[in-house]
This record gives sequence, structure tokens and C-alpha cells, in this order.
Amino acid sequence: MSEGTWDYSSIWKDTLKQLKSEISPHEISMWLNDIHYLDSKEHELLLSISSNFHKYQIETRYLKRLEGIIHDLTGNTITLTFIINKADSARRDMEEFPQPKKTTFGSGQKKYSHSQLNPEYSFENFIIGKNNTFAANAAIAIAKNPGKAYNPCLIYGGVGLGKTHLAQSIGNYAASKHENMNIVYITAETFITEFINSIQSKSTNRFNNKYRSVDILLIDDIHDLQGKIETQEEVFHTFNALYENKKQLVFTCDRPVSELKNLSDRLKNRFERGLNVDLQPPDYETRFAILKKKIEAKSVVIPNEVIELICTNITSNVRDLESALLKLIAYSELVNKTISLEVAQQQLRDVFSSPKQSNINIEMIQRVVAEYFSLSRNDLKGKKRTKAIVFPRQLAMYITREITEYSTTEVGDDFGGRDHTTVMHACQKIENRMKTDPTLEPIVQNLIRLLKEYSTKS
Ligand code: ADP
Ligand code: MG
Repeated sequence: MSEGTWDYSSIWKDTLKQLKSEISPHEISMWLNDIHYLDSKEHELLLSISSNFHKYQIETRYLKRLEGIIHDLTGNTITLTFIINKADSARRDMEEFPQPKKTTFGSGQKKYSHSQLNPEYSFENFIIGKNNTFAANAAIAIAKNPGKAYNPCLIYGGVGLGKTHLAQSIGNYAASKHENMNIVYITAETFITEFINSIQSKSTNRFNNKYRSVDILLIDDIHDLQGKIETQEEVFHTFNALYENKKQLVFTCDRPVSELKNLSDRLKNRFERGLNVDLQPPDYETRFAILKKKIEAKSVVIPNEVIELICTNITSNVRDLESALLKLIAYSELVNKTISLEVAQQQLRDVFSSPKQSNINIEMIQRVVAEYFSLSRNDLKGKKRTKAIVFPRQLAMYITREITEYSTTEVGDDFGGRDHTTVMHACQKIENRMKTDPTLEPIVQNLIRLLKEYSTKS
């Protein structure tokens, strides 16, 4: 303590006690137990914390309240300063996976094999960028301390952004460290199938035992549980059993849980209970680093200008980035040509011009179409059936189906909760009209162009 003048240690104790009385035991164990009093300075309380990630979470979730309590207790404004404890394991986690230089993870370690896990999906092979730092750090912390660090954890984000990679990395890491740990990775889809089979073969007990005795349960793509009421029930009970026994639960989902439909509230509540982290599309630098890493692993020679070309033109997700690379490599091997800028430009032309590359979503389409016809977004989503609204609405649905991957059900939902058959009908109408009305095609093309402009600006 500096000069023996200030000692806020007991104030910190009281502050923590107060905050703990206001939040759930779950939040306490997840966020507060690993913060320790370090020192006091004039109007400043120094605390140790395990990682940058943890610090950020505390600052965004509780800092205001903590400072408020201290103010109530002392009548003074005292700043809380969090110091990352270098000796702490979570910190070491990060240092163990240096990025992006080459490492030799796995060598010298005991070999393991796990039937559901692909060894390629490792933290070693995962490039951390701004878009995925939190998710990656959370995953690493979980892998290091299953059941203790962040439990449950839900990783969400669009297709091809690394959800499966991260979930499996947790499993792979834990499996490499703990021979006897029971780790189960399963997609929600397979879980559903297995569950139904177990009902049919009257072996639900065996099914229950299998899933309720694991140490780490990783369920991928839980959005597939939507509408599967009985399986949801099963997941709910499995969740409770494992959670009570402090077993680690990790889920992935293609959207925030709040946006899931036809999912029971109590299961939603369970998924949302722990840490929810999102994955965003990678920025240019991260895309570049990812491609470099993939190229390195394949031992092919690809000039930087080609990597730049791909990174500039493919912005949607890592999967698309990877498949462009694979396409190029396959071509060069088949025709025995080196990969030059010209070859890349020519071979990837179609991939680059795909509308998918512009990250267009339904909301953008509604905005652009509404503006084009001098309507509001609510007009398109609303119930009015005047001609001036119905046509733009159908057009917007048609364009959504043409240039995005949303299903008719999703499009219907986002257009004011309409049925998927309404969307199919709308698309049919527009297609029919295009056949007879030559002015329509240019309008559609014009709107798509506007959308591309809009999406690259935002
Ligand atoms: P999702 O499950 O979110 O659809 P995946 O985990 O299957 O996405 O990722 C798609 C592909 O992109 C995989 O081959 C994965 O290894 C790769 N990938 C995703 N994110 C990264 C990353 N940050 N670094 C390296 N590879 C990545
Ligand atoms: Mg996946």
C-alpha cells in the first residue's frame, strides 16, 4: 500500500458484498470471484483481474454500479483500476497461442483421438482479429478451465465465421490435456435425430445417461432446435443436469438467442444465462492473415497480389474466402499453371461478382426498396394492401430471395410475420410479371446496384 495512508481493502470487501447481493449466484461465480484486492492509492483502488477479456466484461457490466456503491459507502469518488494478473492462467492462455506466427502445437504432446472432433479445428489454426477476439478468448479460457471459466457459453454469428472451428477447438484442446475427460461434440441436428431414434427404440434412458454424464458438451447450431419441441425439452433437462454439476456447456447459433423463434422461453433463458459472444465478418487484415495461414498449411506458392485480390473482393466470411482459395489451387494443379494475378482474376470473376459478397441483409433491402418507391420500411412490413405498397413489397421479397440466402420462412417473418407461402407467391408474381413487362428487369438490376452501394457504405 502506498505510504500507508490509504487502505480501501475493507471498502472493497463491503462493495463486493453489496454487489453480490444484487446479482445472481451464477453471475457472481462467472465474473466476481476472480477479482482480488491489490492496493490503494489516493482515490484509487487497484484490483487484479485475470484477463483483458474479463476486464472488459467487468467494465461494461458492473463498473458503474461498483463505483456507485463505493460512493454511497464513502461519500467519495474512488476510481477502480483493474490490473491484469500476468501470473493468471487466462493470461497465459493467450500467450500460449501466439498469432499469427507458426507454432508447433501438438508436437511433444500426447496424441489423442476423438471421433467427433476434427484436429484441424484448433486454436493454433484460428486467426484472432478484431472481429473475433472476445469469442476466441472466451473459448480459450473455457478450454483451459472447463466448467469454471464461462459457463454456459454461447457463440453466435453468421455462416462461415468460425463457430464450429471454435467449439471444436475447445474440445480438441481439452481432449489433448485430459485423457479421461468425457467430451461430446454434436450438432443440434444429430442430437435431434439421436433423440428421436432413442424414443423409437425405447432407449431414452441410455440416451439420457450418455448426455448427462459428460464433462464438456458442445452443441453446434442450436438454431436447428427451433420448432423441435420435444428435443428442446430434452436439451433443457440435459442442460440443467450438467449445469448443476458444474460441467461445461458450449453452444453455437447463427443469430442472437433473442432472435430465435419457436424455442421455449425457459430454454432461451438457459442459453442466454451465461456468456454470449458474437463473431463478426473478418476485416481486411484478418482476412489476409487467415489466407496466409491457409496457404502456408497447403504448401503452395501464391503471390501477395493474389491474396490481396481475394481479400478485397471476398468480404462475406471465412468459408467463402477458403473456397475461393481452393478453387484457385485446384485450377492451377489441373492445368499446371502457376497462380498469377491474371489467372486469379479470370478464375474468380464469378465468385467476386456474387451478390453474397456484399453482406446484404433484409433490413437493407427493405430500406433501399422503400426509399426507391418513397415508402417507409413499415409500409413494406405492414398490413396495407394498396397497389402502391403491394408491388414494392413483393419486389423486396423477390430481391431478398434472389440475392441472399434467407429462407422463405425467414423472409416472411421479417416482412411483418407473413407466412412462407406468401413469400413464394410474391416471388412467383414478380417472375411472371418480368416475363411480360420489360421495364421490370432494369428496375430490379438498379435496385440491386443501389443495394451493393448501400452495403459497402454501411
Ligand atoms: P461456422 O461454423 O461459423 O459456419 P466454421 O467454423 O465452419 O464456420 O468456419 C468455416 C471455415 O473457416 C473453416 O474451415 C474454419 O477453419 C475457417 N475459419 C473461420 N474462422 C477462422 C479464423 N479466424 N481463422 C482461421 N480459419 C477460420
Ligand atoms: Mg458450423
